[in-house]
Amino acid sequence: KKENYSRAKGKIVIAKSLTPSDAISYREAGAIGFVTEMGGLTSHASILIRNFGLPEIVGAKDILEIAKEGDKVIIDGYTGEIYYNPSKSEVSRYVAKKKQERRRRELLGGFANLPSVTRDGVEIPLFTNINSPEETVNALMNGCEGSGLVRTENLIISKNYFPDEDEQFEWYEAIAHRLYPKPVPFRAFDIGSDKYAEGLPKREDNPALGFRGIRFLLEREDIFRTQIRALLRVSKHKNVKLMLPMITSVWELEKAREIIESCKEELRRENQLFDERMPVGVMIETPAAAMIANRLAKKSDFFSLGTNDLTQYGLAVDRNNEMVSKYYDALHPAILKMVKLAGDAARKRGIPVSVCGEIASSIAAIPLLIGLGVKELSVSSSALLESKKIIRSASYENARRVAKKALKLCSAQKVRELLRECDVFQ
Ligand code: PEP
Ligand code: MG
Repeated sequence: KKENYSRAKGKIVIAKSLTPSDAISYREAGAIGFVTEMGGLTSHASILIRNFGLPEIVGAKDILEIAKEGDKVIIDGYTGEIYYNPSKSEVSRYVAKKKQERRRRELLGGFANLPSVTRDGVEIPLFTNINSPEETVNALMNGCEGSGLVRTENLIISKNYFPDEDEQFEWYEAIAHRLYPKPVPFRAFDIGSDKYAEGLPKREDNPALGFRGIRFLLEREDIFRTQIRALLRVSKHKNVKLMLPMITSVWELEKAREIIESCKEELRRENQLFDERMPVGVMIETPAAAMIANRLAKKSDFFSLGTNDLTQYGLAVDRNNEMVSKYYDALHPAILKMVKLAGDAARKRGIPVSVCGEIASSIAAIPLLIGLGVKELSVSSSALLESKKIIRSASYENARRVAKKALKLCSAQKVRELLRECDVFQ
């Protein structure tokens, strides 16, 4: 694989599947696009690639049987089209399309310094999902109001080992400092599943339902404590929050809070400075968490809705499996109901609630989320400007009416039809 990485400069990578670590390595080597036979659009490799602002096509069946190294290829990340050894006219069509795209992005640049507010004056703060310190540059340039999610497991994935406290401190500090004084919620390592399996005790038949997120952290308290200590030390500037992945029960949150308190005690004894009130929040990304959101809200400082996993677990459909991708749709009314449930519970307790799953940057879904009462969105830095454009052209009142109707429907397809019919931008 290492040999493959080094040959990727200026090329489109065509592969059976990609891990998050492949995506990072190919990008570092200068790859300009990706096509895979397997995978889903919310797999972690795809999320990273979108954040890089590079085009990707997933589920290109049998492509490896057709493609040969050195072939000229055009890929269209918008339509999913692939052109092999394109004709002259196809090349010139795509040269023109690329120019148009550049122009569109330049025009979107005008939104960077405009407030994120609906046409009828409702503020919808727009945050960004961060995967590395480098991404903060783009995020700030595109006018984010802070981060809504830092995927800290990417630090482990990029290094391929568990860094010690000081190494972690530097990485977290680099992100928190660059975004200061804007808020930065670091998510505790969400390893397992398709993210990072090294160092896990055994291969699992069903990793998405297995040893992942908070389950791993509570079992490997040594690793969890090291991370909490590093984050607490960074929190001394008071813009750091900690959020917990894959929560399904109140006891997991209570246990995690106990461990956090014990780490604080340790740091006090060492005379280290930290934010005594560092907020601790919960990712609502399992149906169980959505169903008991009112009880979790009593012990959480904020909620972050992880609709990527909420859809995977709510609809029982693997987010990484192209064979069932047509069943994977976050606009399914079952998912919308859970979003509403968690949002209502948060509002009742007076704690902030945001959406950080990929749905937050979907043009169709933004007005729907706003209509469901979600007042904060966190999107990849490459989607910030487009998302703000959508927010600024939406009407909160219309969005609320549409969301109410959507909750009564029985399929994602019907919700999409509704969104097409009722113009929430009117
Ligand atoms: C999610 O599940 O929606 C989420 C934001 O977390 P991740 O995509 O990293 O699992
Ligand atoms: Mg998740």
